[in-house]
Amino acid sequence: MSTPSAQALVQVTLPVPLRREFDYLCSLPLPEPGCRVTVPFGARSLTALVLSHPIESDVALSKLKPITAQLDKTPILDQAELKLLAWAAQYYLHAPGEVYFQALPTLLRKGEAATYRSSSYWHLLDQQAAVSAQAVKQQQALTLLKKGPLTSGELQVRGISSAILQALAKKQFIEKREQIPEPKDWRAPQHLTTEEDKPQLTTEQALAVSVIQSAHGFSPFLLEGITGSGKTEVYLQVMEAVLEAGRQVLVLVPEIGLTPQTIARFQQRFNLPISTLHSAMNERERLDAWLSCRDGSTAIIIGTRSALLTPFARLGLIIIDEEHDTSFKQQEGFRYHARDLALLRAHQLDIPIVLGSATPSFESLHNAASGKYQRLTLSQRPGTATVAEHLLLDSRGVQMHAGISPQLIELLGQELTKGNQVMLFLNRRGYAPALLCHGCGWLADCERCDAHFTWHQSPSRLHCHHCDYQRPLPPSCPKCGHAQLIGTGLGTEQVEQALTGLFPQYGIIRIDRDNTRRKGSLAQHLEGIRNGQYQILIGTQMLAKGHHFPDVTLVAMLDADGALFASDFRATERFAQLYIQVAGRAGRASKPGRVILQTHQPEHALLQDLANQGYQHFAHSALQERQAAMLPPFSFQALFRAQATNAKQVHTFLYELVQQLQPQLPATVLCLGPLSAQMERKAGQYRYQLLLQADNRRELAGACRLALAIIDTLVSARKVRWSLDIDPSEL
Ligand code: ADP
Ligand code: ZN
Ligand code: ZN
Repeated sequence: MSTPSAQALVQVTLPVPLRREFDYLCSLPLPEPGCRVTVPFGARSLTALVLSHPIESDVALSKLKPITAQLDKTPILDQAELKLLAWAAQYYLHAPGEVYFQALPTLLRKGEAATYRSSSYWHLLDQQAAVSAQAVKQQQALTLLKKGPLTSGELQVRGISSAILQALAKKQFIEKREQIPEPKDWRAPQHLTTEEDKPQLTTEQALAVSVIQSAHGFSPFLLEGITGSGKTEVYLQVMEAVLEAGRQVLVLVPEIGLTPQTIARFQQRFNLPISTLHSAMNERERLDAWLSCRDGSTAIIIGTRSALLTPFARLGLIIIDEEHDTSFKQQEGFRYHARDLALLRAHQLDIPIVLGSATPSFESLHNAASGKYQRLTLSQRPGTATVAEHLLLDSRGVQMHAGISPQLIELLGQELTKGNQVMLFLNRRGYAPALLCHGCGWLADCERCDAHFTWHQSPSRLHCHHCDYQRPLPPSCPKCGHAQLIGTGLGTEQVEQALTGLFPQYGIIRIDRDNTRRKGSLAQHLEGIRNGQYQILIGTQMLAKGHHFPDVTLVAMLDADGALFASDFRATERFAQLYIQVAGRAGRASKPGRVILQTHQPEHALLQDLANQGYQHFAHSALQERQAAMLPPFSFQALFRAQATNAKQVHTFLYELVQQLQPQLPATVLCLGPLSAQMERKAGQYRYQLLLQADNRRELAGACRLALAIIDTLVSARKVRWSLDIDPSEL
């Protein structure tokens, strides 16, 4: 096949759910791979990414369309990044276009230029400017600006509010000017770390730091350290050497862990540009952060899951904090696991990677045991910080007060009298998880899900936590007209109300998704906890993660029983991680702490193990159970999910798939299903699934490819929404 002389072929990837690439014609000179172009696609015009310059096409030349515009003069993704994404699409058997475009900020997907926006910078007008000694913040601002212009945002993260800047502007010491930022070169080793005192490392910390620092090339480490053992200090010191060599560091944190406190710790240590990347940033902020990673002008990037896909000019180290956290797995669309892809990326770039956790995932423990990761342990808290005492409180036959036993009430009272803070943990927001008619037993159920409505009191409503459907509380039973509707079960609002009655003299704060929705409200609540405005803290897992409250001496988990009967085989692992996480909030400073767990099953082996022996011991025996049952990490799974408003259509699709797939599978690949999903009906959709399991990845991938080929031929597949999840973290 020949091509017209003035035109040649480009192969592009498009953000569409099709497992293939597309060819277009393009006039010379051709855009390099990694450049964006605009192309016609059906009746639409789409942004596409150039992958290669093929010599010929499977499609007849006369049918090929020309591209409509070239968007980039130079590639926005380099060869290595394109290769990583291609590999990711292969591994997850996902439509490649959706994978590539996942790596681009929204504005670039929309065709925006890959350049910084001009922003307002504060400039110092008078090098000699001086303010009175009392105006500490104003002085700080002047000192910072003496080194060069900064934006309001950059000043804000260093504690300079806009009021202070306005005050200085009024005195004509500083002035705001619009400019497009230039890429910064921060590689001036003199002032790398701030004057902040570095603590003397414990023996275990020092060992961990020196082992990681002496690593050459790709080396994965599992840093297992109890909460408060100083993992972050290890990260900081390991990072220092990498930054000194002029290379960038990527720090991945869970969704919920990226608090101002976290960012501040890095900023306090390093005198270097630090960027963040997370879902609460707007499109422009995300693009700017992305650009600053790519051109190397940021030294450290701290971000959630998707930050992993960011291009870097000189990446030298990846750190994954709380590596066991489930938010690293994307649960829709391109269902990747950021930790697993991070390992691949570190391998590709030949750099070290540190996975840190107090409660490592079973996958990582298994990899450490088999020698794939080097394991480093921090078993002690530095200084005088003590490890908490654990207590199981038997709830059987006890008269509870809003889920709190008299014994716990007494213990709470003791701590509060001593001036300490207490924390109560319940992973269920709202007032009660169900509303029931006292006359006839009618239950307020969501019409769209197999679930009860949660009854909320502030503001009053019925709320489905699965599909987000909300409606007003009925004045009486819609079935029998009885006036008395009662809540059953326990939610955080109810615990708050009960404690307000029991301890009216103390400040109480509840922290869950309902009262932290407003921007800045979480930070405000946390500040109230730190400055002693509140003594009683009630919360869901939001409160459990990452925060450091030195005055909390008692932590209670009100209900531990749910996890013991859950159907997912990972439920106990998750519960253990949450328990240790919650327990880690107690006794982090010099005060000894206590962790209390209320349960109807105080003899349960899992609870006994956790309370008396700790996570490592628990994990060891739980891993043996997994091995005996040949469950992950000793085998590998893939899950086909399908849903539709018509249940029969979903059945038909999955049955047809199984019928054709089953006879072609080797005996070593297990095929389970179709089974209904844990919640069969959600938001009006009927959901079923098919699980494939094998003891090696190659066979599992082969089976998935077979299934995908069959699905392509099934008419019933077009009537349902289906997806494939490789290494599912939830069944
Ligand atoms: P982790 O991340 O393991 O939960 P952190 O790194 O947050 O632990 O450390 C807990 C506390 O101990 C922090 O306040 C930290 O500043 C302090 N710390 C860490 N290492 C040391 C050390 N070697 N000496 C004294 N204090 C330390
Ligand atoms: Zn009724
Ligand atoms: Zn619902």
